[in-house]
Amino acid sequence: MGMGQGRGAGGLRHGLGRGGAPTKCVCPQCGYEATKERGTLCRSMKCPKCGVQLVGA
Ligand SMILES: [Zn+2]
Repeated sequence: MGMGQGRGAGGLRHGLGRGGAPTKCVCPQCGYEATKERGTLCRSMKCPKCGVQLVGA
């Protein structure tokens, strides 16, 4: 009972590296780009020039 149903494709969603998630963070003011690290929010990073929060791109 309850075997094989509902858990079959559960692991596939973990490999989504591209497509939806941003791969870099940019400064909305000057265009500075920084590589986005997995698990790190762009909002937690700041532009070294402007000091404003970066946004995902
Ligand atoms: Zn900037």
